[in-house]
Amino acid sequence: MAEVRLSGIRKNFGATEVLRGIDLDIQDGEFVVFVGPSGCGKSTLLRTIAGLEEASAGDIAIGDQRVNDLSPSDRGIAMVFQSYALYPHMSVYENMAFGLKLAKTDKAEIDAKVRAAAETLNITDYLDRKPKALSGGQRQRVAIGRAIVREPEVFLFDEPLSNLDAALRVRMRYEFAGLHERLKTTMIYVTHDQIEAMTLADRIVVLNGGVIEQVGSPMELYEHPTNLFVAGFIGSPK
Ligand code: ADP
Ligand code: MG
Repeated sequence: MAEVRLSGIRKNFGATEVLRGIDLDIQDGEFVVFVGPSGCGKSTLLRTIAGLEEASAGDIAIGDQRVNDLSPSDRGIAMVFQSYALYPHMSVYENMAFGLKLAKTDKAEIDAKVRAAAETLNITDYLDRKPKALSGGQRQRVAIGRAIVREPEVFLFDEPLSNLDAALRVRMRYEFAGLHERLKTTMIYVTHDQIEAMTLADRIVVLNGGVIEQVGSPMELYEHPTNLFVAGFIGSPK
């Protein structure tokens, strides 16, 4: 678990400024959800926190460490994407163990971690299956399992449910809420689905055109949107 502090984060791609000064302190164990229209910079922000993109300006701190110059694997984070590419030729167990094997983790420790994560995610019965023998929701759980076994201090989720059908999306929402309750890890979650945001978030951050429009609890944003954009996106109909 760790706090995440973003100060003055900017990101340009050539002449295009995609993030235009993001300041936010995320508390240890907090579930923060970024919402905003397509193209507003949500994925870029997550990728920048993860170290997959370099910030053009600003500081990123995780715990009490500035991480701008650290590689993604040294930042104590794990990221789960919308398209959760599992290795098709490996079993669920092998998919989850792979990263730990690369890190030369001892075999008994890998086994304990994979089984504990599988237990948490209710996929113990599928450990020997190949990904193609799983449903979309089960595959997504394996992708989350791969992240859990690394015991990150911070989870980053980029629209993890958007490839699932509506019914499954609803069920997985509760699974994310339960996961956060059990692990109590800091979670930064991106979605363009307001209901997902309202259900999961301790705080919602509304992003628009690379700047933060408003930050607050779901209730605060719903009842007191500070501008029309937020009202249109998440606020109560007025
Ligand atoms: P969101 O996730 O909110 O839909 P993105 O962060 O993916 O938005 O993209 C924000 C903007 O940055 C978009 O206009 C997108 O085209 C642009 N962008 C993202 N990645 C790159 C890149 N590697 N090179 C150039 N432009 C990019
Ligand atoms: Mg995106």
